[in-house]
Amino acid sequence: MVLPITSRRDLFIVGAAALPALAACAAAAAETSPLRLITRPQRVFKIADLPRERTEAWFVFVIAESNAAVHPLPSRLMLSYFTGQDEVARSEHWGAALSAMVVQGFPAPPNTFWPFGVRVISRQPAAANVDRMRVRLAFDAAAPVEADVAIGTYAQRTELIFPFRGNGIITQGGAANAGHRNGSGQFAIDALGLSENYAVQKTASFAANTDLLGFGRELIAPAAGIVVHARGDRPDQPVPGESNEEFHLPEFRGAGDPGNHVIIDHGNGEFSMVAHLMTDSLAVREGERVTQGQRLGALGNSGDSFAPHVHHQLQDGPEWTSASGLPHRYTNVASQRLDRGEFFVAR
Ligand SMILES: [Zn+2]
Repeated sequence: MVLPITSRRDLFIVGAAALPALAACAAAAAETSPLRLITRPQRVFKIADLPRERTEAWFVFVIAESNAAVHPLPSRLMLSYFTGQDEVARSEHWGAALSAMVVQGFPAPPNTFWPFGVRVISRQPAAANVDRMRVRLAFDAAAPVEADVAIGTYAQRTELIFPFRGNGIITQGGAANAGHRNGSGQFAIDALGLSENYAVQKTASFAANTDLLGFGRELIAPAAGIVVHARGDRPDQPVPGESNEEFHLPEFRGAGDPGNHVIIDHGNGEFSMVAHLMTDSLAVREGERVTQGQRLGALGNSGDSFAPHVHHQLQDGPEWTSASGLPHRYTNVASQRLDRGEFFVAR
């Protein structure tokens, strides 16, 4: 059986707020360039790759921003990596390699133009301890533009448990592992619920949500906090295997509609979003204080979802459309690598 992937496209940032300044990205645009560079997410964190690799990876969209409707495309990208003041590595991209990294069509905020973004996945030896990346873009007919991007290491504050108990399989992990790429979903996980013997489906049929064993599984609060968003009225996608835009909210069409979801403020600058709940299964309301493990609702297939699954992310603000994603682990899952294709047991 082909496992369904649970989101079909790169997830772009919508409703972007808090422009233009980026604390972590001191734009140093050349005087004559109409462009400046910003990043999504605004805060960039690196994570360790598989232990054997002894490398660290990070993912960021570097977006060209302008007050005027200009349409330049870069001819060359230079990335320099720093540890403190020392440059420790450098890479350059042009031609087909650069074209493959350039993305157009980002929805820019009002009175602002985002002619293109560059999708940067970096991987450097962990021992190099890179803490800054300099991005320089050159153009055939415009002045170059460059910016420094701080590369952080995040120390998770909240002890999280997985949002369901039992067996599961990760269908999407973090951005550096071909997973979610929107700003707040950088380190999100998608998981299907499996039976005790790791079956995905009840029968050979894959025609209805109820054919999936995880559909309806209890979803629980990963940690205590206050519910700042709770929505439960969105319909489930009726047919597994496709994410029909008719069932997305218009404002999130093509942008990763979370469907029914709960966002919990853990009270320390960290927020959990648990998404794609089954329609009308919501068991909490906005303003409610929840305890770790408290029922939030049932695993469903609402929003931009290809099959009944749960999406969980840790983020640094209450709005998933503008927050930055935070790397996180679970205390009740033995595997510390929740990458695509990993089976796990949440105790
Ligand atoms: Zn997801």
